[in-house]
Amino acid sequence: MTDFMDEYRRRAAETGAGCGPQCPGNRIPLTPYETARIASGLGITTGELLHRYMAVGSAILNVKEDGTCVFHSEDEGCEVHQDRPLSCRSFLEPADTPGRFVERARQYREVLRAWRRASLARDAGETGGTGSPHPAPELGSWILDVDSLVAERCAERGMPIPPDLEARIDIHLAALRSALE
Ligand code: SF4
Repeated sequence: MTDFMDEYRRRAAETGAGCGPQCPGNRIPLTPYETARIASGLGITTGELLHRYMAVGSAILNVKEDGTCVFHSEDEGCEVHQDRPLSCRSFLEPADTPGRFVERARQYREVLRAWRRASLARDAGETGGTGSPHPAPELGSWILDVDSLVAERCAERGMPIPPDLEARIDIHLAALRSALE
């Protein structure tokens, strides 16, 4: 384990990109926040990110033919270093994990739990209890396409889409929460 971590840190220091031997063969899950961060950093929409870098219905980043993460570059390390997901950050530098990533992950987890509770209540309703009409979304579904839902929500309300990513995430979370009301 020590050898592995030494090698990891050596590679991370060499590339300056915090990406090392954990990347080959690793399966990295994304939250909606991370999807939006990476897409924004690449200058593409979340829909394009899902289409290009993730399998349909999956919340996991694709790997290349050699088994390395789709964003792993042998020469440069992580190609999305500034916006790399929480799991990549916390592996090497747990004490340096940005609070914003943790907070957004917590917020989305709460929303997903609420959807699941509503879904269970709906199922109970089908058998005679008090139900909710809301199906529980899977993480690898439309819930990761942040830009589409934000655009829909802004159009409904006659609002411009904010250029600030954190403001768009607030709108995304509000849209998910309001669907439960
Ligand atoms: S996103 Fe970057 S740091 Fe994370 S596994 Fe892929 S290449 Fe490595």
